[in-house]
Amino acid sequence: MKNKIVAGNWKMNKTFSEAEELLVAVAEGIDDMPLNTEIIICPPFLYLEMAADVSEESKFSVGAQNVSSEKSGAFTGEISAEMIKSAGVDFCIVGHSERRAHFQESDEVLATKVLRLLEKDIVPIFCIGEQLSEREKGEEFKIVENQLTKGLFYLDKDAFERIIIAYEPVWAIGTGLTATPEQAQKMHAHIRQLIEKQYSVEVAYNTYILYGGSCNSKNALELFSCQDVDGGLIGGASLKAEEFIEIINAAETSVKSN
Ligand code: PEP
Repeated sequence: MKNKIVAGNWKMNKTFSEAEELLVAVAEGIDDMPLNTEIIICPPFLYLEMAADVSEESKFSVGAQNVSSEKSGAFTGEISAEMIKSAGVDFCIVGHSERRAHFQESDEVLATKVLRLLEKDIVPIFCIGEQLSEREKGEEFKIVENQLTKGLFYLDKDAFERIIIAYEPVWAIGTGLTATPEQAQKMHAHIRQLIEKQYSVEVAYNTYILYGGSCNSKNALELFSCQDVDGGLIGGASLKAEEFIEIINAAETSVKSN
């Protein structure tokens, strides 16, 4: 089994001083861990530079939660890929279901955001996942295929190899309803098969597919032990250092026990 990735999505939480406290607590907590897991912290834009500063002496990398689809110019309130790169950011979440739902981000806009990030050498963490009503109709595999096709499969092999995918069933995000390990494994295997069909067995194997949706210290080990689950994108549970570190520990254990 390959090493895992654990990414924390803080969403719109924490004041400046709380953010600093959490960054330092995570940095100290992982300091003496002999880590194989790649840790990525995605705070709000405002704290990216501070996170990048703390990360220089620590074992985590920094990700943004969003990026503009525009390169630069008269787009009030927007933040470009070039700007986040200049703050020390190496990763960026794209297509989170909250952005798709509350900010009407279409597959086409998301595809452009992916390009903007790749142009600046930032790794997109591309989120896909079905709504509950879609799963109830048995459409979850089709929905995910459609999101992948429109959002990513236009990329050539070299570009696609730089992408991380996060499968986040919308009904599990922030609800306390986690996908069962069987549900997660089935979808992750499906995603990997689609990548294999589009690119190759090797690309499919090497692509990181993270699970997200009410993942916490209690269920992380079981989820991360699934063959095709390469780690997690963690929302609420990344807001407390101890909990986040326990999830990182689960990622480490899941690799060792395989
Ligand atoms: C997320 O926001 O990406 C997420 C997975 O949230 P939560 O862990 O809180 O469900």
